[in-house]
Amino acid sequence: MTSAMLGPPSVTVRAPAKVNLELRVGPRRKDGYHALSTVYQAVSLHDEVTVQVADDWGITITGSRALGVPADETNLALRAARTLADRYGVDEPVQILVDKEIPVAGGMAGGSSDAAAALVACDYAWGLGLTKDELGAVAATIGSDVPFLLHGGTAIGTGRGELITPVLTRGTFHWVLAAADIGLSTPDVYRHFDTIVEREERSVPAPAASMELMTALRSGDAQRLAAHLRNDLQEAAVELRPELGDVISSGLHFGALAGIVSGSGPTVAFLVADSESAIDLAVALAATRTVSETFRATGPVHGASVRGVARVD
Ligand code: ATP
Repeated sequence: MTSAMLGPPSVTVRAPAKVNLELRVGPRRKDGYHALSTVYQAVSLHDEVTVQVADDWGITITGSRALGVPADETNLALRAARTLADRYGVDEPVQILVDKEIPVAGGMAGGSSDAAAALVACDYAWGLGLTKDELGAVAATIGSDVPFLLHGGTAIGTGRGELITPVLTRGTFHWVLAAADIGLSTPDVYRHFDTIVEREERSVPAPAASMELMTALRSGDAQRLAAHLRNDLQEAAVELRPELGDVISSGLHFGALAGIVSGSGPTVAFLVADSESAIDLAVALAATRTVSETFRATGPVHGASVRGVARVD
């Protein structure tokens, strides 16, 4: 077969989930966003996003967690692809297939990661050859977490989370992610954070990453890292959904080194010592009433990266 007979390539990109090792929330800015300092880590729970140049734009969702994911223009992967096309004057529509494994609306940034993956896949499919910084600039217009999901690894996010600085880490950390079947929307959690601040008359300093956390990450010592995980939104999330407090207590009871609400929740991320402890904890938590599903994952892992390119007739 000659290459002239082949159709356009289909490009598949792996899109990782993330956990926030630290989420410090500062004052609300004039644009309505809160100033953040967060430390992200990409973990080994992935969606797969495949794009192929076609006659029309479109998106299809498959996989074990497809339920509730919009297959229309509001899907972040499709929005990212169309934004990239507009920005670079590309007139080649793509069909996007998202194979969904990351729990939806869980605080693990699955939608943002699909958007990052769509950018990487379209860049490849259209032969744009953009740098990470160029893709990152488009990513930041789609959502605050999207630049990190392009980047992967472990990184500090400032601004509203979109300004990324890589962090040096050693070794691999083991996580158990506990999904709870209790809806919790990101805007509601931020609103409740503001309510608590007002109610308690707290001052909210400008946020900054903790040096102890940086040192713990460099040491590769999970026990040390456990002592410095922090999420300023956790109190608000737990007040809104007290069941989350029970999930954290159960995880600690079953041997986790630490447990923290991931982002704005409702997923709880537990740090454990090694892969055996992860299996034990995942099994024990799965048997509790509030936890609907558990996942084991390790981090850090790469950001959105091309997994394969297939050329079909
Ligand atoms: P974050 O951690 O960034 O706050 P999240 O993990 O809480 O995000 P997502 O799974 O990214 O939440 O999705 C939140 C909402 O975004 C979904 O309920 C869905 O309606 C919408 N959405 C748009 N595109 C996608 C996508 N590709 N995958 C999942 N959800 C999407």
